[in-house]
Amino acid sequence: MPFDLSGKSVLVTGGTRGIGRATVEAAARAGARVAFTYRSSEEAAAEIEAQLAEGGAEAQSYQSDAADTDAAAEVVEAVTGEFGALDVLINNAGITRDGLLLRMSEEDWDATMETNLKGVFNYAKAAYKPMMRQREGRIVNLSSVVGVAGNPGQTSYAASKAGVVGFSKSLAKELASRGVTVNVVAPGYVETDMTDAMPERARAAMEGQVPLGRPADPQDVAQAVLFLASDAASYITGHVLHVDGGLAM
Ligand code: NAD
Repeated sequence: MPFDLSGKSVLVTGGTRGIGRATVEAAARAGARVAFTYRSSEEAAAEIEAQLAEGGAEAQSYQSDAADTDAAAEVVEAVTGEFGALDVLINNAGITRDGLLLRMSEEDWDATMETNLKGVFNYAKAAYKPMMRQREGRIVNLSSVVGVAGNPGQTSYAASKAGVVGFSKSLAKELASRGVTVNVVAPGYVETDMTDAMPERARAAMEGQVPLGRPADPQDVAQAVLFLASDAASYITGHVLHVDGGLAM
């Protein structure tokens, strides 16, 4: 077990697949009590809950759209009620609605911003008071190499993920005196359903640019998230940790 989260209460948004699921499973293995949200995959959520319970972990899932402000507040209240505290918030839920700006609809732009950026605002705002009162807490937000370096066809996604970086650095400064750290993980090319949806040619081109010569496994990202959530990272805040095989050097 590389990082110890024994007894910690962890909330992951979008935890039923990909990086979110890997993070949920890794946090449970690290000894945490894990809550996670999902938008629609009720079956997968129930399966993960059962799997974690079988392994002896406490787990609880919540159907909740990250873009819904009131629902986020309700989830955080439910988690603090159920687990007695919220120690770690991991804002993972994210979507892509790619296309050249010329053809990008307002609806695609708004949907990307609502989940990727407003979702982070919603959960961070809901966690603010409980963490401030505890005088301890960890917030880890998922950005992307695309938010740092840009990518043609991903203006909305890049803007939302760059927004996550600015948001996180500002919040890190706001909450530092309260013992709460706020950090960002910026993955490169990770093999998940999100990247499976990309055209084969685009994936091959992306992989070809990775200095380490392979895409990331969701576990590679989950371990970085867990590090920032653990006591090992207690003196790190406002940091953007690239987990990209060297893609954005
Ligand atoms: P994924 O599509 O496999 O999984 C995303 C998860 O978020 C799913 O469980 C989905 O149901 C959930 N989700 C989406 N919208 C939601 C909403 N409105 N409310 C609640 N849940 C919602 O994606 P992934 O590849 O695992 O990505 C996870 C995070 O990492 C995202 O923020 C993504 O932008 C970021 N990221 C991924 C990559 C990559 O290469 N896969 C690279 C950089 C950053």
